[in-house]
Amino acid sequence: MYTPLFGPARNAIAPAACYKGSRDVSMARLVMKFGGTSVADLDRIRNVARHVKREWDAGYDVAVVVSAMAGTTNQLVEWCRQAAMLHDTREYDAVVATGEEITAGLLAIVLEGMGVEARSWQGWQLPILTDNAHGSARILEVNGEELIKRFRERKQVAVIAGFQGLHKESGRITTLGRGGSDTSAVAVAAAIKAERCDIYTDVDGVYSTDPRVVPQARRMDKIAYEEMLELASLGAKVMQVRSVELGMMHNVPIFVRSSFEKPEDIDPKKPPSGTLICDESEIMEQQVVTGIAFSKDEAQISIRRVQAKPGVAAAIFGPLADAGINVDMIVQNVSGDGATTDLTFTVPSADYERARVTLDKAKRAIGFERLDGATDVAKVSVIGIGMRSHAGVAAQAFKALSEHQINILAITTSEIKFSVLIKAAQTDLAVRTLHTLYGLDRA
Ligand code: ADP
Ligand code: ASP
Ligand code: MG
Repeated sequence: MYTPLFGPARNAIAPAACYKGSRDVSMARLVMKFGGTSVADLDRIRNVARHVKREWDAGYDVAVVVSAMAGTTNQLVEWCRQAAMLHDTREYDAVVATGEEITAGLLAIVLEGMGVEARSWQGWQLPILTDNAHGSARILEVNGEELIKRFRERKQVAVIAGFQGLHKESGRITTLGRGGSDTSAVAVAAAIKAERCDIYTDVDGVYSTDPRVVPQARRMDKIAYEEMLELASLGAKVMQVRSVELGMMHNVPIFVRSSFEKPEDIDPKKPPSGTLICDESEIMEQQVVTGIAFSKDEAQISIRRVQAKPGVAAAIFGPLADAGINVDMIVQNVSGDGATTDLTFTVPSADYERARVTLDKAKRAIGFERLDGATDVAKVSVIGIGMRSHAGVAAQAFKALSEHQINILAITTSEIKFSVLIKAAQTDLAVRTLHTLYGLDRA
């Protein structure tokens, strides 16, 4: 039987099942996910195996999801690019999915060597079924039946290759987009009704912003799914967006923690340090602003002197949508004569060239004078559920940024976040300024 991953959450997991210090784990299931840096070499894979053994010894049934060893996926992607700039994404998937397979096999070997019965699983073997959007496929169903059978019969640890799945109709391997092992892990957790999904990574939790940019960033004990979703989709790559969506939909508590903590140093009686991604209702103290995210993967396009007449926006954004290009921030200025306007918007930088070509082709239909573009821009976003009930949060940011001579090129707002587009060179300054402004710096 397959577990459908869409529709109402079938297997809501009681939030109380998250860390509360209780260690009655008989029959409880746990998913542990380890990212690329955490499995970068054999020593680190051994360290991972000790983490797994620790939980297994404590009585958990464990499914481990692993990423490719650090750098491997980048190398595989680069080889595809060098083989042919425009390649078939089905073959891209055949190539890039292999990274995770190596790690899964190696970890199973190491676990067996430590006396822990383990078996590796590739996406097609479970299977993890996806749609056919090669390169960024979405998980549709996960079959955890065989894993559960083996937990019961032999207490066997399942080591699952992250990032990959199977498109049932074509029988071909698919991958879930960069960072996709997070999503594999949460999907498996939902399918086997795991008590929790632990995401082991190279930071010890989710911070108020990327701790590599702001050393004073503060680690959060808890963060609501919705806030994590915004942080992730606005650039914080600590969790893949889709994994947070799945966690929210299926009520899977996700715990982000460090893989570098020594397994031996962890006191099983104490809750470990990390960040729990959970329902908003579980968070007692809510700040107005919880986090700041940024993304340099943005490009700006300005269409100059467009005819100010009905139907122009459709003539511009229609062809872009048809080309599968996502338009994000949009600003329109009516010129002094009132007859023409300038229209500025952003697209993902990966789609920049394609967007320009698409618009050039539609130039006659749109009717504009000139097209300008820039890739040296960044989007900085401020996120917080508390913004729903507080006015003036964005206005404070505009003032603070202007005091640092940071020019705002575009703005977007929604209920629990706002974003500004700025010059990329000013990203770190803007993030630090806003982090301090909203009182997020660690004391
Ligand atoms: P993994 O390989 O384990 O999947 P990633 O590199 O995908 O790890 O994600 C972890 C990285 O995310 C951290 O090293 C950190 O630099 C970055 N990051 C960005 N924003 C945040 C944030 N708000 N909190 C924690 N880490 C963040
Ligand atoms: N190895 C894949 C990547 O680098 C998936 C992952 O690590 O989550 O994107
Ligand atoms: Mg990742």
